[in-house]
Amino acid sequence: MKDSLNFLPVDRAGLKARGWDACDIILVTGDAYVDHPAYGTAVIGRVLEDAGYKVGVIAQPDWRRNDDFLALGRPRLFFGVTAGNLDSMVANYTSSKKPRRTDDYSPGGKGGLRPNRATIVYTSKIKGLFPGVPVVIGGIEASLRRLAHYDYWEDKVRRSLLIDSKADILVYGMGEKQITEIASRLDTLPTPGLGRVLEGIAGTVIARSGNSRAAGDEEAVEIPSFEDVSRNKDKFNLAFRLAYREADPRRGKTIVQNHGDRRVIQYPPAEPLSTREMDHVYGLPFAYAPHPVYEDGNLPAGRRGVPGFETTRFSITSHRGCSAECSFCSLYAHQGRIIQSRSPASILEEAKKLAKRPDFKGTITDIGGPTANLYGADCDLWARQGACREKQCMMPEKCKNLKLGYARTVALWNDVLKIPGVKHLFVQSGLRYDLLAGNESDDYLRALCAKHVSGRLKVAPEHCDSGVLRVMNKPGLEKYHKFVERFERFSREAGKKQYLVNYWISAHPASGRREAEKLARYFSKEGIHPEQIQDFLPLPMTVSGAIYWTGEHPFSGEKIFSARTYKEREAQRLMVQPRREHKFAKTRSLIQRPGL
Ligand code: SF4
Repeated sequence: MKDSLNFLPVDRAGLKARGWDACDIILVTGDAYVDHPAYGTAVIGRVLEDAGYKVGVIAQPDWRRNDDFLALGRPRLFFGVTAGNLDSMVANYTSSKKPRRTDDYSPGGKGGLRPNRATIVYTSKIKGLFPGVPVVIGGIEASLRRLAHYDYWEDKVRRSLLIDSKADILVYGMGEKQITEIASRLDTLPTPGLGRVLEGIAGTVIARSGNSRAAGDEEAVEIPSFEDVSRNKDKFNLAFRLAYREADPRRGKTIVQNHGDRRVIQYPPAEPLSTREMDHVYGLPFAYAPHPVYEDGNLPAGRRGVPGFETTRFSITSHRGCSAECSFCSLYAHQGRIIQSRSPASILEEAKKLAKRPDFKGTITDIGGPTANLYGADCDLWARQGACREKQCMMPEKCKNLKLGYARTVALWNDVLKIPGVKHLFVQSGLRYDLLAGNESDDYLRALCAKHVSGRLKVAPEHCDSGVLRVMNKPGLEKYHKFVERFERFSREAGKKQYLVNYWISAHPASGRREAEKLARYFSKEGIHPEQIQDFLPLPMTVSGAIYWTGEHPFSGEKIFSARTYKEREAQRLMVQPRREHKFAKTRSLIQRPGL
């Protein structure tokens, strides 16, 4: 396999080229190896390398054979395993549970290169081939399945992924602090065997047998067991509520959940990265490219390149976290609600680096994060005591204590455009439109419309029905209309013809026939030709996922209808999809709604 010294080694030739006998740590991932900060494996690999460890990468190993797992030999400290940037079930199946043929995180976009439940499959393979070597699991799949959770694909409650995978420790959240702490502890392990060495690390989950104690046990909140939440939906929602409320790095408590005779112990989330730490992580020496093996001329044409990389090639991550808490979104559970922003100087530095690349054509395609207009957002409470337990930052209205970073963002955009070679800077990450519906955002929106829209701007109204929007925890449509009016006005003033790309969700809980019809009529009345309609996907650890499984809102106890059969979901989808309007009448009869 061709290797490059700009990347972490992927084979023995790579080890030899660096004069290493072995790696300290080997990362195994379900994605292709792309050394770019938008890829979790690249970030964790570079962070560990920066901490002084020898790190290798095994990307998309063939799990039906041993060879790929043996490619780098036995690591001195541990294996780190992730399914990749996506949950493997999301990557492998559509929301209709049909297998996907493509995978943007695989070479040539080819599907089928990561197994279902990749974290379990990879860990089991490693445990068989390298007995005694600790396995640390992480990434979005592990993060969202860290406690007993509802699994849409099997339509049942599954155990914590730590129990099912038999790994030694699970990292949740973005992971830099946890993984360096784990490496440092394993590096100084005095005797063979893990003992209690991995206990008490914020942002991790461990398992212990029923009667042995662990650090943090004394103050832990015990939530209903796996067996209880599997059998009883009220207990499921109670466990969900308790865990959700403790998900804060400053005020959160340790959670304990029994699984048979094992206790799963989840420590509170890791401290958010400071601006200085964010700058450091994003300043590490990424190669900003897929590993050269994917360009190899010997590969068949359909297996070259990594499509997912093309959308991130000239994009910059400015921040992490989302304060919005949309019910269907898993970001809250993974990145948290506290916004962590890089400094403008660090972002400028990265923009300068990109502008010097030989393949740079003059366009920075995005500066953003989960919600582009939350860059630089802050609240005084976040640093002191964490985000409020009983109050939300953005719903039903923006909290007056939430400070937005609009002036700083506009100044940053202007500075990026002054970099030699940069002709355009666009914002492609989604925007929270309710934060752009009022006059206080005039300067930001004016600057955005004048220079930073690549013709189309992404926003996510999601639905038009107030009942569905309330369950989604999204603002009402009147704010969306105000935003549209302002977007069109500022675009006109700038002399630009530019459009909105609206994202909608079909068959979300609380949507039945009446609501789907209403959405279809709304599209027709407003002349909207929706390009982006997603079927609702009940993700683990989301409020909407809990509603879908239990039929009740986990916080209010309100009973809420969900379209659960394939026919019902498909019918709602067909109803709102204009190209299939001829099927409208036919599908009406397929859809149920509350009271029918
Ligand atoms: S005071 Fe407001 S912005 Fe700050 S954490 Fe509480 S709800 Fe969020």
